[in-house]
Amino acid sequence: MVGGGIIGLFTAFHLKQEGAGVVIIERSTAGEWSRAAAGILEFTRYKINVINTSSYALRYLRMMLRGEARVKTLDLKWLAAYLKALNSKPPGGAWEALRELGELSRRQYRALAEERNDFEYSEEPLCEIGVDVSKELEEARRDPLSPRVEAGRCCGADALLYLDAAKLSTEALIDRMLRELRGVELVRGAAESVTAGGVRLEGGRVIKADAVVVAAGYWARELGVPVAPFKGYGFRVTARAKCMLVDASRGVAAVPLSGWTKVTGRFDLDGSQDHSPSQMVLKLARRLLGTFEVIDMAVGYRPCTPDGLPVVDVIGGTVVVTGACRLGWTYAPALGRLAADLALGRRRPGGPLSAERFAARGRR
Ligand SMILES: Cc1cc2nc3c(=O)[nH]c(=O)nc-3n(C[C@H](O)[C@H](O)[C@H](O)COP(=O)(O)OP(=O)(O)OC[C@H]3O[C@@H](n4cnc5c(N)ncnc54)[C@H](O)[C@@H]3O)c2cc1C
Repeated sequence: MVGGGIIGLFTAFHLKQEGAGVVIIERSTAGEWSRAAAGILEFTRYKINVINTSSYALRYLRMMLRGEARVKTLDLKWLAAYLKALNSKPPGGAWEALRELGELSRRQYRALAEERNDFEYSEEPLCEIGVDVSKELEEARRDPLSPRVEAGRCCGADALLYLDAAKLSTEALIDRMLRELRGVELVRGAAESVTAGGVRLEGGRVIKADAVVVAAGYWARELGVPVAPFKGYGFRVTARAKCMLVDASRGVAAVPLSGWTKVTGRFDLDGSQDHSPSQMVLKLARRLLGTFEVIDMAVGYRPCTPDGLPVVDVIGGTVVVTGACRLGWTYAPALGRLAADLALGRRRPGGPLSAERFAARGRR
């Protein structure tokens, strides 16, 4: 396994359950980027990943002009694939595949929580405030994944209540996964290149394997998958949010947990080491939640493909799983399952989540 983010951890979990010997190669600490996430699970709502429409592109440009988003890392191959995917419909079978990812993942989270709920898993409504509720309701009713939504009130504001949601503590689930993976070897190092038979690390060490799975977020672009780093920031803060909410007008989310509230924000196309926009998230969160202390901050990257759909495929003999964008935690258990099945040869590559949709005609 290359990458010990949430999808790598679930892939390793399924492989271990099947009796495979697993080595995880992680450039930093396991879950380092993934833990920045809010921990909101939206099992039947895909629209937040749809970035390839003209209206979204215009909205993003307006956000850039207002300083609410910035572009620091622009991969021209990604941009070309984005322009090609603009306003295109998802490949045939994509909605069924997404519905299945949501269902499988919900089942897996429930099973883990039933065994021991040490990661604060809770199925409860997600409140979306700062939106035109009747317009959003209408749009949700046209959504092919048929999310259960209703109008209501939240934190003193009109809200869209999304009923198929759940929340968890990202920090606690990463700890739980590491306990589940006891016995799995964790190698600290950065993969430089991969082949079907092994991984070469920076510094020259080579680790051989019967199968290689790359679950390294946006690093998959090194293997030719168009995937870009949409950076965001996650803070654990002392505020007490009343409910799990997304404030669309401020671009921040807040998830109340027993020891802290998780606050997240920003969607910057930015793989740089400059994390200064993180202060904007705090400023906006304080307007929403009042004063609070910061416990800590994590930086994360939403690995987004041009059409917002994940990629699970075999490329050059290597299994690649990435591109979950804003829904990586939501789909991690199921994407990990698919990647493990590909690595074990129990499933053939192809289908709506294959990277073939981005390949030039005739190339694979
Ligand atoms: C602020 C924020 C809030 C979010 N909120 C939510 C949410 O509420 N719900 C939700 O479903 N999703 C959310 N997401 C999205 C979710 O976090 C991502 O989709 C998810 O983290 C992707 O997981 P991943 O394992 O594919 O990649 P990553 O989390 O990017 O993990 C990749 C791992 O690979 C390692 N790596 C990279 N390159 C190499 C290399 N060359 N060699 C070895 N290791 C390498 C990295 O160090 C990292 O640990 C959020 C994201 C952000 C940033």
